[in-house]
Amino acid sequence: MSYKLLPLRFERFNNDEIFITNEVGEFTFISKDKFEQLIKCTLNPQDETFLNLKAKQILTDTDINPVIEMLATKYRTKKSFLNKFTALHMVVPTLRCNSNCRYCQVSRKDVEAHQFDMDKSTAKKVVDTIFQSPSPMIKIEFQGGEPLLNFKIVKQIIEYSEWRNLFKKKDLEFVICTNLSLMTKDMLKYLKKHHVYISTSLDGPRDLHNKNRPLQATDNSYDILIEKISLCREYLGHDSVSALMTASRFSLERFKEIVDEYISQGFNGMFLRSLNPYGFAKRDRRMLGYTMEEFVENYIEALDYIIDINLKGTYFVESFASLLLTRMLTPFSTGFVDLQSPAGIAISGVIYDYNGNVYVSDEARMLAAMGDNKFLMGNVNKNSYLELFNSEFIRSLIRSACLECLPECSSCAYQSFCGADPVRNYSEQGDIVGHRPTSEICKRNKKIMHYLLDLVKQGNGKIEDVFWSWIIRRPIENNVCITSS
Ligand code: SF4
Repeated sequence: MSYKLLPLRFERFNNDEIFITNEVGEFTFISKDKFEQLIKCTLNPQDETFLNLKAKQILTDTDINPVIEMLATKYRTKKSFLNKFTALHMVVPTLRCNSNCRYCQVSRKDVEAHQFDMDKSTAKKVVDTIFQSPSPMIKIEFQGGEPLLNFKIVKQIIEYSEWRNLFKKKDLEFVICTNLSLMTKDMLKYLKKHHVYISTSLDGPRDLHNKNRPLQATDNSYDILIEKISLCREYLGHDSVSALMTASRFSLERFKEIVDEYISQGFNGMFLRSLNPYGFAKRDRRMLGYTMEEFVENYIEALDYIIDINLKGTYFVESFASLLLTRMLTPFSTGFVDLQSPAGIAISGVIYDYNGNVYVSDEARMLAAMGDNKFLMGNVNKNSYLELFNSEFIRSLIRSACLECLPECSSCAYQSFCGADPVRNYSEQGDIVGHRPTSEICKRNKKIMHYLLDLVKQGNGKIEDVFWSWIIRRPIENNVCITSS
């Protein structure tokens, strides 16, 4: 019986097996022999490999139209984030900052430099612009600088947004990204009343955090942070506070200690992030930077450690792996702007600078702070919503940010799980399309995806249960096996 091949991508996975995937992210591994039979259309229809490939819509021996319909439905689900348009709106109330982070990526301004504060009229225009987004969900995230240094504008934006939302009735959420050092009980009462989540930065144990993220007033930022985290939890509840880490050169070889620190501080997850090449991180790359190979080696060691911790009964999520696994093992998109095609810039997330300038992403704003306004969309004080979001600039940028048609990505077997990042391409390689063989992000994504797929392929039911607990964001219940194996 003859069969037809449907669109597929493939890559040699190891010495014996080929990794095959399709447009909607269904994947499987087959031996080299079977792969040769597959492409010569000589696979036996009774063969288990044949049936598996048929079930995943990689081949068909029946009427092709219903199969294409099925693939189209899955494709629409994978790309459903496009229906909603921009949900994440980052706002910079001030560029002033009281931290002295070694790798500051946004080129902070002095605590007294009030000319870098957002003013009332700009704040109002920012909210008016945000509420023209068609997205039913709006997340307003305050970034810095240190947002608490201009708390009155934070309050104005929260209250005016709530008022606008009385009519718009969107799912409205606020997050404030802060080093917490200036947090007071009065501020916490206010944040509690307005249901604001807190995101802070914890880079590891005391000495490491103090080295990466000292405050201007003291080198011992760690003790202040820990005290303020517990104050926030007291007022807002344990789960209202999350933390992010950034790995500098000083963090390498210490990832396990960083994981332990997060667990001992009561967090149930973390995001192991590499350094972005902007601001001081770029200027001081020799002292603070490392190769992507070094980062991935440390990441994988920490990932194994985290999986082991989960297997021993402590629920703890590594968020980057969790996002990739969601893309690999479920039909859904994640809404994470860095793993999207088309890229999430402007159409999923956008940032409003203190002066009303609108950039396609936080990284684009960092680039602007270094003197390059390539990704400036316009200014809320001068441009309408449509001029900002429906410009030829945005359209052509998004056209150049689809993995499906980028060189190398278009034929890459990992494409369905990966994302485009024209800002990073431009910053690293001077070109928005980029050159994959020398791209650091491509290198990182490919290696980590390969590692996760290898773990999935091994079919260890206990590890699969850990992965599913990360995807559904719930601990594994005692003696309940989520997977069938
Ligand atoms: S960035 Fe790299 S890993 Fe991702 S799809 Fe493109 S070629 Fe593949």
